[in-house]
This record gives sequence, C-alpha cells and structure tokens, in this order.
Amino acid sequence: MKCNLCESLETTFILSGSDSYMKVDKKKFDIYQCKNCKVTSLQPMPTQEELKKYYPSNYKVYTQDMSPNNTKSKNLTYFKNLIMKKLKMNNLERILERFSSKKINYLDYGCGNGKNIKQLSSKYSNWTFFGYDKFNKNIDNLKTKNVSFYSSNFLNNMPNDYFDVINLSSVIEHIIDPKNLILLLKKKLSKDGILIIKTPNFNSLSRKMFGQHWHNLDIPRHLHIFSDHNLEKILNELEFTKIKILYSRNSAVEVKSFYKLFNLKKRPKIHNIIVNLLNPFTLILSLLKLSSTFTIIVKKEV
Ligand SMILES: [Zn+2]
Repeated sequence: MKCNLCESLETTFILSGSDSYMKVDKKKFDIYQCKNCKVTSLQPMPTQEELKKYYPSNYKVYTQDMSPNNTKSKNLTYFKNLIMKKLKMNNLERILERFSSKKINYLDYGCGNGKNIKQLSSKYSNWTFFGYDKFNKNIDNLKTKNVSFYSSNFLNNMPNDYFDVINLSSVIEHIIDPKNLILLLKKKLSKDGILIIKTPNFNSLSRKMFGQHWHNLDIPRHLHIFSDHNLEKILNELEFTKIKILYSRNSAVEVKSFYKLFNLKKRPKIHNIIVNLLNPFTLILSLLKLSSTFTIIVKKEV
C-alpha cells in the first residue's frame, strides 16, 4: 500500500473497521500506518463519490447546536464551562488577540454551522469573516455586513496572500489529499498569516486504550489520522513555522469511546455530567500531550 502523503510504499496494517458512528453500511475499511511519515490512512483510499453516502443529512456538522435551547445545562455548568473555556481557549485567544485592533480577513474553512465565526464576529467587529462548508447549504442566512458564507468552492477566485488567519477545525482528517489543501490555503494566506489546524491525535491515550472503539476513528469519514509530531513535520516541510500546539481538555471523546466499547445504543441522560466529571482527568492528559485532539497553530514562512 502506498502512503498518499509521502508516497512511501512501506506501510503497516493497524486495524480494519466499518462505519460504527452513522452506521450507513457494514463495509470494512482498512487502516494502515506509513512507516516513513507515520500518518495513518484508509487504504485503499475511497473516492469522493464513494464517500458521499457516509455524510447523511444528520451527520454532526449539520446538527451542532448553536441556538440557545440547551440553556438549562448551560446554566448548571456555567462556572465549570467558564473555567474549562479559560483553560482551553487561553492560548488560542491570546494568539488571535494580536489581531484585535487590526482589520484582518479571517477564513473558517469547513465552518460547519458557522458557530466559530458567530462567536468571533461578535467579539471582533473590525474583522472580515469568510466561512466555507461544502456540506452545509443552510448557512447563507447567517450572512451579515462583515460575514460571508460559501458552500461552493470560492477559494480559487480569491486573491493570493489575502487571509490573515485561516481556521481548519476537524477538516483535514476528512480530506483525500490534505497536503494539496494545505498548499492551496498557504497560497491564500498573507505574509505572516496564521493557520490553525485542529484534528484527532493518533498518539492519544484514548486511541491506544480504545483501539477500534476510539470515537475519533470515525471510519470511513476520517481518511487520515495525524499526530502532533507528524503533522508538525509535514507543516515544516511545507514551510510553516510552529507557534504552538494545544491539547484538548474535554473528555467527550473518551466518554463516547467508552460507550462504543460497551456497545451502548444511546447516550445516557447523564452524559454531560460524566463528561464534566472526567474533565479533570483529561486536563492531566493534555499536560502529558496525550489528548484525543490537538490544535496546531503555525505561521507561514516568507
Ligand atoms: Zn507517509
């Protein structure tokens, strides 16, 4: 099997599994790890056409809630959330704060329901926001004076060196050719522009513990699973410099993997309570760089 990131022919079989999250069908997919770049990928890589059916309309990007209808649980866990938010967001927010007084162009590539842009645009009214999500056709109504959304690819028509910040959250693991996408984004990124990539962590304790039951495997939608080390190396090769790597501090992936391991059909009603109770444990994991998800923040080298 050939690695489609570095083209090495030396790969090791890791596991095989089917869609256990959306349960579209029972087709088996194999995951291999490249001996050279260490990235794990589905082999053979499914085609874009094949993948379409694995994104049914109730897949999470459409359903992530951003309306205030879960206010009750929000109030209950308000202080916990506030503390977690402070811990989680501090570094990323501090980096974004550098741009607070500037007029910048911010792109959220794979913006889902536009939650990230919604939050930032209420904070930074002087920024211009662009959101792109090919699966979400219902975000057009969120357009405002300084916010535009696209569901068809608009990037090729945008000038080069245009965006100051590009956010790529839970996206590259879904892309057949992630290097190609990163290179396109680099072209569109301004001099000293920042790229923020959030993706599952193959080196996480939860991946090692839960194996094929690990929630972040998400077969066959996750085509590649990176680790902090190998993604940093790839980004270095593409001439980006690391600013920071942040490790997730939320235990949701661990908890959901646990449900999968015990074949729980439905989330228990106390799901949020369990997640909150376990968050101190995942806080320790983040300090050990063993979180289920990481965010790498890099700068474009001139
Ligand atoms: Zn490779």
